[in-house]
Amino acid sequence: MIDFPRMEAFLPEILESLDAHDMSVFPQGAGFRATSAFGETLLTPSDGLLTIELEARSGASLNRIRHSITGLIGFVAKSEQLEIEWEGDRVGKTFPPDLRILTVCDIQRLTPRMRRVVFHGEDLQRFDVRDQIHTRLLFQPEGADRPEWPMLDDAGCIIWPSGEQQLGSRVYTIRHVDGADGTMTIDFYDHGDTGPGTQWLRRVRPGDIVGALGPAAHGPKPARRMLLAGDETGLPGIARILEAAADDLEGLAIIEVADRAEEQAFEKPEKVEVLWLYREDGEGGLLADRVRSWDWPADHSELFVWIGCEYHDFRTIRLFLRDEVKLHKSRIVAFSHWRRGMSEEDIVAAGGKAVAA
Ligand SMILES: Cc1cc2nc3c(=O)[nH]c(=O)nc-3n(C[C@H](O)[C@H](O)[C@H](O)COP(=O)(O)OP(=O)(O)OC[C@H]3O[C@@H](n4cnc5c(N)ncnc54)[C@H](O)[C@@H]3O)c2cc1C
Repeated sequence: MIDFPRMEAFLPEILESLDAHDMSVFPQGAGFRATSAFGETLLTPSDGLLTIELEARSGASLNRIRHSITGLIGFVAKSEQLEIEWEGDRVGKTFPPDLRILTVCDIQRLTPRMRRVVFHGEDLQRFDVRDQIHTRLLFQPEGADRPEWPMLDDAGCIIWPSGEQQLGSRVYTIRHVDGADGTMTIDFYDHGDTGPGTQWLRRVRPGDIVGALGPAAHGPKPARRMLLAGDETGLPGIARILEAAADDLEGLAIIEVADRAEEQAFEKPEKVEVLWLYREDGEGGLLADRVRSWDWPADHSELFVWIGCEYHDFRTIRLFLRDEVKLHKSRIVAFSHWRRGMSEEDIVAAGGKAVAA
């Protein structure tokens, strides 16, 4: 239950955000029902109170939905400083069921700026799925003697270790995972700026540990024709999707990188062309023009589009897909992977404003 006096100003955007995050939202009675692969959510607004009821098949799924709902409402209505009180099963502080501890076993230099890190971990089967290809990594502070991990509170929100044990955390694509032999591979782009992800990448050594949360959904959907577009941060996703694709897949992958030395070889179906774009010394922004000039098929029934890149390109492409191509959202997975001039903390602090600009 949330005491939410200005709910009317935020509810439409909350429902839209839920709908954009792998839930299907539809009106039911006096409220709304949101269904996802993890369970059901009922949102009932009345007189400045929003009641949220969750139902899931397992504790892990319940935590998962609870965390998504809390995170999205908190983000969209950041200005309202809402407090969410939960009752029922799974209340109290818990070790996140989605969290795995990974040990670095190998580090390879793929290109001048791209590093491949291979991890080993127990019980990684949950990450070994085709349609959920992202993980949030948790980095221990440099020189920490004793690792500390986050816990989940009653609201499904993460409680981060406090004091000097501040953890850094960033989202990455799982380039490869093998649940049976307990390995996970992630390709990290060293973008040269100093966030916690880059700092960790520059000091990482075999034997270091990270936490991995997830996985989260942003994978491919079945299609005969695909357009994939991304920068270095989207490249691991594009390569993973194309390596696993059916031999008869057709389409185009547009990849913007710093320069020719950043190109990588990966397996792909014969009829998928790979087009490399080079920023050289420019700021980028090359992807959107190339996406626009693709030979868009009139029939969208066999089409899928996957986008992972900087926020401004992502936004231009998403609006083009929605307003000009008129591609249904079920045929698109498009995410902003980073935003020029803003760290992840800056984006979270700005809340909805950072993605509405
Ligand atoms: C779903 C998803 C999947 C992703 N997959 C991958 C992946 O597989 N590999 C990967 O390397 N990254 C990936 N990213 C991107 C990565 O999470 C961000 O680049 C992240 O900001 C890096 O954290 P940081 O601590 O280095 O920089 P931050 O502290 O977040 O930012 C510090 C500064 O660096 C700038 N910056 C951040 N990223 C970049 C960049 N890529 N290029 C230029 N400047 C940048 C910011 O604008 C800011 O000014 C993914 C992101 C998402 C959301």
